Amino acid sequence: MTSRARRGLESFLKRKAAPPTEWRGTLAMPDGTALPLIVRRHPTARRLTLRLSADGNEARVSIPRWAPFSEGADFARSRSEWLASRRSAVPKAQDIVPGSTVPYRGRTLRIVWESRLPRTPALVGDDLRIGGPQDAVARRIARWLEGELLAFAAADLSEFCARADRPVPEIKSSRARRRWGSCSNGGTVRINWRLIMAPDHVRRSVVAHEVAHLVHFDHSPRFYALLARIADPDLAAAERWLKRHGPTLYAQFD
Ligand SMILES: [Zn+2]
Repeated sequence: MTSRARRGLESFLKRKAAPPTEWRGTLAMPDGTALPLIVRRHPTARRLTLRLSADGNEARVSIPRWAPFSEGADFARSRSEWLASRRSAVPKAQDIVPGSTVPYRGRTLRIVWESRLPRTPALVGDDLRIGGPQDAVARRIARWLEGELLAFAAADLSEFCARADRPVPEIKSSRARRRWGSCSNGGTVRINWRLIMAPDHVRRSVVAHEVAHLVHFDHSPRFYALLARIADPDLAAAERWLKRHGPTLYAQFD
């Protein structure tokens, strides 16, 4: 075997033997329920960190490269009381039915349903008027909100691209469960449709973040310098809002 072939074989064997990077299990909670648990090995993690997913349905532990998965699982187990208290703070899904409310750009809209009204929702003051079959009201409102998100985020995108002196890329709405925004190698910007329920400055901060990624595909100092230059001045407040209230946006339309 040539040395080159041997190297190729060795790297192939190494790849096959690469250790798994995640482990899944469940966690017995104090109230007797089982919470799905995922332990992930992170190449840059230096300590164990525990989080509860935004919807409260999964515990996530990050462990350093050297730590065994069992250590991550033990870590989560030792903090099940904390997880339980975090879990009880996650807002419960509110039913989207006639007479209930829905958040929209930081406002609260009242859902007014009458079967003879048009099926497409219409915004009249703080009333969202909608007709058609009652059992499809929530689905049609979600679709309408997604359209609104796309329209507002597209306008934000043009504005921030002008500030960054970049051509305006394609934009899509996303239904991601964890990410508010993303930007692909091909340059497509995706913004989470649920952000239409947040105040405008929150959605705009996410769009500005992705526009800065069109230039710098990392979180380097140069990225943050550009972001500070193009974003609205209340960027920090928007990030605080997302941390504190972001999970409530997942409680709707679940
Ligand atoms: Zn980023």
